[in-house]
Amino acid sequence: MSFCPVCKTEYQAGIEQCADCEVTLVETLPAEPAAPAAQPDWVLISTDHDEAEAYVLKGYLESEGIETTLENKSFHIAPVTAETLLNILVHQDQADLARQLLHEKEYLYKCSSCGAYCSLSDKVCSQCGEAIEEEDAEAI
Ligand SMILES: [Zn+2]
Ligand SMILES: [Zn+2]
Repeated sequence: MSFCPVCKTEYQAGIEQCADCEVTLVETLPAEPAAPAAQPDWVLISTDHDEAEAYVLKGYLESEGIETTLENKSFHIAPVTAETLLNILVHQDQADLARQLLHEKEYLYKCSSCGAYCSLSDKVCSQCGEAIEEEDAEAI
């Protein structure tokens, strides 16, 4: 058995060149380059918190063992008046848990239509687009 190192097609023994790529076949394919250290997939779970609140939420999530990062979305054009707003991000595989925890703490509400967790500041559900009515928001 031989392999084309370019297109990775398998060839029977005896064939020496890939018909497509015109390169010499090899006995074994070179090892795939090691996958880069897994970059956590950060997921936005909550938006538009002022700095103090965001740090409270981050501290809370981290006390529950959820790695949390804050993303500053404000532009400090006028630092004196600019309100610092932060997005809260967690690893993808912990996002559900994080949302659940924030929901329990009433930092997120659950959409009454689709059950998605949304920021209290959202005007429509980020999942189904349903308008958010005050009375729909379980968590307020
Ligand atoms: Zn080939
Ligand atoms: Zn929804």
